[in-house]
Amino acid sequence: MRVHVWAENRSRPEEAAAMRKTYPLGIEVDIAAYLQRNEDMIVTASNRNDSMQGFDRRVLDKTDVLVYWSKNDGEDIDDANVDYLQKRVLDGMGLIVLHSAHSSKIFQRLMGTRTNSLRWRNAGEWQRYWIVNPAHPIAEGLEGEYFEIPADETYGEYFEIPQPQEQVFITQSQGGDVFRSGNCWMRGLGRIFYFEPGHETYPVYRQREVMIVLSNAVRWACRKHYPNYFPDSKRESDIPIVK
Ligand code: ZN
Repeated sequence: MRVHVWAENRSRPEEAAAMRKTYPLGIEVDIAAYLQRNEDMIVTASNRNDSMQGFDRRVLDKTDVLVYWSKNDGEDIDDANVDYLQKRVLDGMGLIVLHSAHSSKIFQRLMGTRTNSLRWRNAGEWQRYWIVNPAHPIAEGLEGEYFEIPADETYGEYFEIPQPQEQVFITQSQGGDVFRSGNCWMRGLGRIFYFEPGHETYPVYRQREVMIVLSNAVRWACRKHYPNYFPDSKRESDIPIVK
């Protein structure tokens, strides 16, 4: 499967130095390098500073799953690029939306709600990811009832999203917030997974459990990998025949 990792690769001025220290080559490079270890994935990466804001149509047309990290509320992604991303998702490209990309134009458009509405504070608190759907393909390979990230930004409800069609994680923060942190939706032929972790000043995308989830999510969102994945009802053709 072909995976493309895109990142806005910018931070607030006061956090820019910490971001460069954590991810000297860019978040998209770290994520892509990890995913590339999966033998079933061919991974490419781009960021906001590349030509066409990193959304080369020739790459997108071949992409099975796009992994998307962005930072800024009201990001300055051209509407023509957002239109194209939306078309690709509706046509079947998987989309993994990470962390602050909850406020991206493409996510808002696909959800139809103000997805930038949530509680947040950057206090370096631990985050406990409760696995609320252990049989889900995205939770495969995780052990125990939860995993913990030692320090990350805290997000909390209310998160203005449509009710997820499948919920894989709910997060509890050190400070007591809860957050729907691993959420699945279908739009057109495309599968979308929102995954909370990954403030740019913490090395979250080097943590084993986070990257297991990300690898699983890419496979789940890839139509080549799960061509007949329907969450709500099994079609007759999906029911195995016992001979
Ligand atoms: Zn953040």
